[in-house]
Amino acid sequence: MNALLLKEYMNLEVVQMPTPEIGADDVLVRVRACGICGSDVHGLDGKTGRRIPPLVMGHEAAGEVVESGARVHDLRPGDRVTFDSTVYCGQCFHCTRGEVNLCDNREVLGVSPGPYRRHGAFAEYVAVPRRIVYRLPDNLSYEQAALIEAVSVAVHAVNLTPVRLGDSAVVVGSGMIGLLAIQAVRLAGCSRIIAVDPDDSRLALAMQLGATATVNPKAGADNGAAVAAIHELTGGRGADVVLECVGATDAVRTAIAAARKGGAVTLVGNVAPDVNFPLQSVVGRQIRVQGSCASNGEYPACIELMSTGAIRVDTCISAVAPLEDGPSWFQRLYRHEPNLMKVILRP
Ligand SMILES: [Zn+2]
Ligand SMILES: [Zn+2]
Repeated sequence: MNALLLKEYMNLEVVQMPTPEIGADDVLVRVRACGICGSDVHGLDGKTGRRIPPLVMGHEAAGEVVESGARVHDLRPGDRVTFDSTVYCGQCFHCTRGEVNLCDNREVLGVSPGPYRRHGAFAEYVAVPRRIVYRLPDNLSYEQAALIEAVSVAVHAVNLTPVRLGDSAVVVGSGMIGLLAIQAVRLAGCSRIIAVDPDDSRLALAMQLGATATVNPKAGADNGAAVAAIHELTGGRGADVVLECVGATDAVRTAIAAARKGGAVTLVGNVAPDVNFPLQSVVGRQIRVQGSCASNGEYPACIELMSTGAIRVDTCISAVAPLEDGPSWFQRLYRHEPNLMKVILRP
């Protein structure tokens, strides 16, 4: 089969590889669409340590079943499916508590951090366990379905956030996850949603997708003006809930400063391993800080929300291209070419 292989850092090539073998509990999926995730782009140069070559990356995908393992009886060839990015064991302490995203034996598709290597979906075929596979309704295209993984991250974060009807929300970062979080937090009942991002074109998208106001903190400036603008929009108090979808010091500090006393901040972004944390502001104002990792059982809800149009992803798709063009799209994303959101490859 054709596969987009990370042969060594910064060197992606379409190569021939053997079609993966499936076990008794697995299904073999003919991949029809696979999104390039920011984490794949960051993995390209080796700095994250989570894409050790040789590796086929790709964990945001959809396609059709071509073969089922001996113990899989409810999926047939031709069934349209997507799958979770996290392969959980189903047996450890966390899995048995229903926290599969925290599985002790968790592996992520298209990732190789050292202890394991699991080839992903930038290939014609991928083998995945039945328990992470979900059927797709006919009205979701493969390209749309490739974004379910990202939607699930945003929906999980909102599910962990104590939102009440009529609350005000701030969403820091209007990248892919931020734009989805804006839609999710609106569905959860927030009436006032303030998007924060240094890029005006992204803020325009945020307004299209449900934000009621935007604040541009201007790269390089101190965040005092942005925080003042947020307070002005929230009755001088700050927002009831904040979702942080960047994961770096400035953004985290803005998120915490944007919350009202007694408010809640959910941290989703995690680009930086450490940030400068405003401890006294959190303790002294009794802010609840919640981390959010991947998703935990939200796939069926996300499929429903997308199928009914409650969450829209089309405006987030910047390009759809054949797998052969993968290396050049990765380069463009790596160079931070402006106005690129989600790029989807079709193996
Ligand atoms: Zn991803
Ligand atoms: Zn487990």
